[in-house]
Amino acid sequence: MFRMTLDDIKNVVVVGAGTMGNGIAHTFAQNGYSTTMVDVKQEFLDRALQTIGGNLDRQVKKGILSAEEKATTLSNLKTSTNLSEICKTADFVIEAATENQQLKSAIFRTMDENCPAHTIVATNTSSISITEIGAYTKRAGNVIGMHFFNPVPMMKLCEIIRGLATTDETFTLTEKLAQKISKTTVCVQDYPGFISNRILMPMINEAVYCVMENIATVEDIDTVMKLGMNHPMGPLTLADFIGLDTCLAIMEVLHNGLGDSKYRPCPLLRKMVAAGYLGKKAGRGFYKY
Ligand code: NAD
Repeated sequence: MFRMTLDDIKNVVVVGAGTMGNGIAHTFAQNGYSTTMVDVKQEFLDRALQTIGGNLDRQVKKGILSAEEKATTLSNLKTSTNLSEICKTADFVIEAATENQQLKSAIFRTMDENCPAHTIVATNTSSISITEIGAYTKRAGNVIGMHFFNPVPMMKLCEIIRGLATTDETFTLTEKLAQKISKTTVCVQDYPGFISNRILMPMINEAVYCVMENIATVEDIDTVMKLGMNHPMGPLTLADFIGLDTCLAIMEVLHNGLGDSKYRPCPLLRKMVAAGYLGKKAGRGFYKY
């Protein structure tokens, strides 16, 4: 049996070239990996390349990268709309497509059918069970969660989530790979919300309860968490950035998955989502943009 080492990982594939996918591809390419982004339309891939180009320019301006490193990073990037074909030469895949369980099940089945036996298939999902995703494949031992944070090239953290069937070998290799691209890793068992959203979302939800119960103004709630707890931004500002629909969806995952009433989404959060006040992307959330 072929046992892969870190040096055997040459071809990295990133599935989904949206917000997270382009950041993940950028980071791997910057660290010397031949990286192929896959999406459903060439125009999405072109847009991702443009975004990466702009972000690289900013890194050069700030002195983080040289012009030469920027050029090398771009030369490490390829694009494709043919997942089955690209999987055939992949050593490590990170799926960062739209957060939809049915879509991810189809992508993981395709990857499983086409990737070589040694390939590790990771997912950047924020809320879907890694164990369930593993069960879509015949290689659950090679399936793992790799949860990056936005913007990926800047944010140091990568939560590595072990599904029930994830092998020690898959975990160790994934951990080493994340460290090689300069991320700080934490090991998490597969439970709803992992660590990040398990703690962050109930805090945001509680802040929404404070608004609903008229305990203080939106601005004052954010000020308490910024100046009292030294958070870089208040929870309601952060909720607006994340998107209130995403916050609600994650609270539902925690509530359904853990079955404890302490995770019930705040009725005001539901009401704002129903009204279309989804945060920054909608021009209106707890603040107006
Ligand atoms: P996004 O909507 O910005 O991008 C998703 C991309 O997936 C789109 O370009 C879409 O065209 C593509 N896609 C859809 N179906 C596809 C298919 N069959 N094959 C290939 N590509 C396909 O979403 P995002 O915010 O980048 O989120 C991607 C994943 O990362 C989700 O699972 C999300 O939960 C997770 N995540 C998001 C964040 C965040 O802050 N946005 C943080 C951590 C994890």
